[in-house]
Amino acid sequence: MSGGLVAKGMEVSFGGVRALRGVDIVVSPGAVMGLIGRNGSGKSTLFNCITGFVRPSGGRVSVDGKDITGMRPHQVVAKGVGRTFQTPRLEARTSVLTAVTCGLYASVRSSLVGALFGSPWAMREERLLRERAEAEMERLGLAHLRHVEVGKLSLGLLRLVEVARCLVSGARFIMLDEPAAGLTSVEKDRLATEVRAVAARGLGVLLVEHNIDMVRQLCRSVAVLETGNVLCQGTPDEVLRNDDVIRSYLGA
Ligand code: ADP
Ligand code: MG
Repeated sequence: MSGGLVAKGMEVSFGGVRALRGVDIVVSPGAVMGLIGRNGSGKSTLFNCITGFVRPSGGRVSVDGKDITGMRPHQVVAKGVGRTFQTPRLEARTSVLTAVTCGLYASVRSSLVGALFGSPWAMREERLLRERAEAEMERLGLAHLRHVEVGKLSLGLLRLVEVARCLVSGARFIMLDEPAAGLTSVEKDRLATEVRAVAARGLGVLLVEHNIDMVRQLCRSVAVLETGNVLCQGTPDEVLRNDDVIRSYLGA
């Protein structure tokens, strides 16, 4: 299997509904891959089966050539794949710092840390992780908010906290499920800048996004899902020229 985050032949059924029917997708390091498609086309399901929240009935997932198919969510994080959810899942009363560092505890050999709790090794590990969280908040312009409860943040800042959380977990690939939904245009611009910066650091990004301008700005490649199939894939220009895409997705 090749480098990058590679999902091949992904199949998922919910009862009688075949939500994914053999989807292939490759996310390359240092690039933003776009994923578009109508509601119900299978975008979130693809995220869920790559990250271990839903068990696929077919297909393989690998990260830089290592098979991660069927791993549980925390194991997937430990393999370097972070994600956000379409609806943010952070507990409202949690501080930004805690929300960001929580990404770590999911990733860092949690059973081992638990077993060694209080040991010098665990304490040093924890300090390093906390430094990583501070550095990431600094990079994303969130450091001054570290003690603010996430429930008090604007949606735009909340989305950035979610990105920081993925990055702190040591992800080499991050998957963002409609991160710009509901944001103001100023917030969208800031998010776009941060996503571009993340890719410039060498991470691969899989981005679900409805806004065509944002897709054009950020994505090197785009895949269009329709009823669980990849309808087409290519550069934003190629894809958005495709008549089927225009009919299916843009409703023209
Ligand atoms: P998208 O994210 O593109 O809007 P989804 O992946 O959420 O689409 O949904 C794809 C299809 O799978 C839809 O028909 C949806 O109703 C169905 N589906 C998604 N999650 C579940 C679930 N947990 N149980 C049953 N059906 C589901
Ligand atoms: Mg969705």
